[in-house]
Amino acid sequence: MRQQPKSDPKPSEEFIYTDLYNAICERHLPPDTKLGEAMLAEHYGVSRTIIRQVLLRLSSDRLVKLEPNRGAFVASLSLEEARQIYEAWRLVEAAIIRDVTQSITPEQIASLRSLIAAERVACDEQNYPLLTRLSTQFHVQLADLCRNKFLGRFLKELIPQTSLAYFYEIRKMPVCTKDEHSEILELIVAGDAEAAVSAAKQHLDGIESSLNARVAFDRQMSLVDKLMSPNPVAKIRSL
Ligand SMILES: [Zn+2]
Repeated sequence: MRQQPKSDPKPSEEFIYTDLYNAICERHLPPDTKLGEAMLAEHYGVSRTIIRQVLLRLSSDRLVKLEPNRGAFVASLSLEEARQIYEAWRLVEAAIIRDVTQSITPEQIASLRSLIAAERVACDEQNYPLLTRLSTQFHVQLADLCRNKFLGRFLKELIPQTSLAYFYEIRKMPVCTKDEHSEILELIVAGDAEAAVSAAKQHLDGIESSLNARVAFDRQMSLVDKLMSPNPVAKIRSL
């Protein structure tokens, strides 16, 4: 999924932060995966001090948990917390859609339509990491259009947490389907805020309804294998 860092002169802290952030958000690293400092330092060819800084930043994003005497792990959620995230997401998304319906411009509509077109291509090509990223981007882009910056920021902080909730999902497909996004967007374009809110609620309800505590986590692969895995969804599906 990403170039072998060892071949680089020395990856920057920013590179490693982004790499691990994406690895968690694109579901390469399941909750509770141990993030060994020494292993990561060797993998990226940098000092443990740099790795420690990166892990600290990821813990302030609430994607990594730091445990005294045990080290760093990918953060995990209880099933109840996962449900609470979707509950919060539905409420904020509804407020964002009501605002965006009043203010969206033709340029913004065109940009969202082209994003959905890219989702279709990624889906047809079964490029799941890309589809996951684009699906998330749809919601982030809507949040960016909201004139209430606090609401937009809140949603953008919430969305990465859904990567952790994902591991409770029964279906092993990216969370967002292209046609549901298209339906939400076209209702916004038509100026029907309440219908768009209702479509978004159904969209998020559908994801939440597939959460189940019995879903197995992929705990067998090594950390480095997971980081280098090209297609996490396919690997998880094979369980
Ligand atoms: Zn979605």
